Amino acid sequence: MDVFDRIGADDYEQVVFCHDRGSGLRAIIAVHSTRLGPGLGGTRFYPYASEDEGLEDVLRLARAMTHKAAAAGLDLGGGKAVIFGDPDRDKTEALLRAYARHVDALGGRYLTAEDVGTTQADMDIVRKETRFVTGVSRELGGSGDPSIATAYGLLWAMKAVALRLWGDTSLVGRHVAVAGVGKVGRALLGHLAEERTRITVADVTPASVERAVAEVGAEAVAVEKIHAVECDIYAPCAMGGVLNTATIPELRCAAVVGSANNQLADGAASAAALAEAGVLYAPDFVANAGGLINIAEELAPTGYHPDLALAAVRRVFENVTAVLQRAEADGVTTAAAADKLAEDRIAALSAVHQIRIPT
Ligand code: NAD
Repeated sequence: MDVFDRIGADDYEQVVFCHDRGSGLRAIIAVHSTRLGPGLGGTRFYPYASEDEGLEDVLRLARAMTHKAAAAGLDLGGGKAVIFGDPDRDKTEALLRAYARHVDALGGRYLTAEDVGTTQADMDIVRKETRFVTGVSRELGGSGDPSIATAYGLLWAMKAVALRLWGDTSLVGRHVAVAGVGKVGRALLGHLAEERTRITVADVTPASVERAVAEVGAEAVAVEKIHAVECDIYAPCAMGGVLNTATIPELRCAAVVGSANNQLADGAASAAALAEAGVLYAPDFVANAGGLINIAEELAPTGYHPDLALAAVRRVFENVTAVLQRAEADGVTTAAAADKLAEDRIAALSAVHQIRIPT
């Protein structure tokens, strides 16, 4: 890969290769944009098949965080990090602390958090070397498990969609099909049960399905069938790429509102196919921003307060509403409208930064 061409094409500010011989650390930190604030994004610990694969992943993820933070109305930019290796085999305190020193050296341009292959306990270790970390445990002033907030935000995304489609934010009597009842999906089920929603679930882990049936009386279907359940809202809460040329023609829902990242297999083409099929799509990075909004509350001058954080997460309702309105006004897909809203916010506030009086 020609690195400067690649990072220039999508305008990355900084890409840092991190190495520590003693602990075996090999990591890349990508800061896509700090135009709205420090680039916040998690640290992924993954056994990439090649350096190029890891680099491509961190670049893609960092850029997505810029859009996600901007669309969520946060004063944060986009960044992400990857550590090469198998977390079960290669993760040590020494390696995490060596990594944390690289994060610290960026002076706050990049704020890290947990992601695939890293945990809150790992972030507590990172905290020993740098204050530029979020998602540490409550005892260290952190905000705890982000999945709870992600699920709560998803509920409010569903309410925004319900208001749009059915003229009422209530989900009583609606039917929601949830694919994946892990951390986010399970917390979502609790909210849906409170709303007295009919629930159908599927998960590759039979125990998770059994738990959903026992806890909220959900109906269960096979993993291959969940997207085709006749329902009001289909909620993909497991893997990305689930909205594709095979699944979209089989959808029998009015809307898709889920937490899974990168749900559209083919970007704009999948978004157009959904619109053509008459399915209202709540863009994933807007609907699933509750966890990010919650974690951003750790940066508040007064520190993290759970009640204030939950109030902030409810803003997902307004954010999704704004996307739906923009899509209608511009005659574009909801996915395109979400991108545009994020880009407009970055452009508008970047202009404000330019006229900031130097101190
Ligand atoms: P998780 O690993 O706790 O749960 C995922 C669940 O999906 C598991 O129960 C797993 O068994 C199941 N699953 C895996 N493959 C499946 C398949 N093909 N069909 C059905 N079920 C399947 O993960 P999570 O934290 O709940 O996150 C779920 C999704 O939401 C992921 O895509 C994640 O990137 C995204 N997300 C999570 C958060 C968060 O706060 N946790 C925030 C934003 C986005």
